[in-house]
Formats: sequence, structure tokens, C-alpha cells
Amino acid sequence: MIDQRFGDKGPTAEGGCTCRGVRYRLDGTPLIVHACHCRWCQRETGTAFALNALYEADRVTHLAGEPEMVVTPSLSGNGQSIARCPRCRVSIWSNYPQAGAAVRFVRVGTLDDPDRWPPDIHIYTGSKQPWLVLPPGAKAVAEFYDLETTWRAESLERRRALRGLAGN
Ligand SMILES: [Zn+2]
Ligand SMILES: [Zn+2]
Repeated sequence: MIDQRFGDKGPTAEGGCTCRGVRYRLDGTPLIVHACHCRWCQRETGTAFALNALYEADRVTHLAGEPEMVVTPSLSGNGQSIARCPRCRVSIWSNYPQAGAAVRFVRVGTLDDPDRWPPDIHIYTGSKQPWLVLPPGAKAVAEFYDLETTWRAESLERRRALRGLAGN
């Protein structure tokens, strides 16, 4: 089956920080893309929401440089590890304790083609900035959602493979 979202650009995408010290490649489609409107993401990005494409860690290959992991307080209280360029400090991706180290939340705005992965779902819209009007028909939830009924079948399959590897 051909995934329409690959378009004519092939199954990989590249991106990196502003100083180009850290570069990465993504293999295949994201598990899902979140637009997160929580107040924590608003503060960390300095804007209205964060746009994160979720990938298995082994689909995120660093082509140049190694990001530095910075632990940042999070809503859950468990902290979020943000991978930042050690030079320009731009955030590239992050790990949340709930998803574990096996899943990287890649900042879509750091892709060379950031238009590539629009959000599959808007989350935490309970704190969405009121001026921001979501497109008609956009999937949106006040807080979080149920993975089994929201992720694509292929993504759920990939998730099962991940959990098998993790032994849970
Ligand atoms: Zn940099
Ligand atoms: Zn958030």
C-alpha cells in the first residue's frame, strides 16, 4: 500500500537545528503527529502550541552532531528530556517518561520541510489560545486521547513491536 503522505519526496525526511551543528534523518511516516496546546508547550516554544511527530528512536538517525539532553520540568512532574543542539540550543526532539526512551517527539518545525507533517490531532485544547481557530473537521481533544482508537493500524502495529522489544 502506498502511503499518500510520502508524496513525491520519498520515505525519508531531514532536519536539524539553526546552526546546522545537529542534523537528523527520519525514516518513514510518524506514528502520529500531535499539536499540543498545553500551557507547558506554549511556554517551552514561546508560541501557541508545539508540533511533535512521534517516531521510534531507531527511525531518528543523527547525521551530524549529538544533541545534549536537558531535563525540563513537565506537567506530570516526571520531567521531559529535551534533545538540544549543544551550540545553538535549539530543541530537536524530546522524550516523555510516559512514552519512554523508545519514542522521540520530533519538533516538526526543525524539519527542512516543516510543512511535511501536519497534525493528526490537537491535544490539550482545553488551554488552546482563544484566537487560534482549528480547521473545520480537525481532530481535537480537551486533554489526551485513547491510542487504540486514534492511531492508524500501521502505527499500532509498530507500537506493539516496540512494546515487545521493551518486554512489556
Ligand atoms: Zn545548532
Ligand atoms: Zn504540551
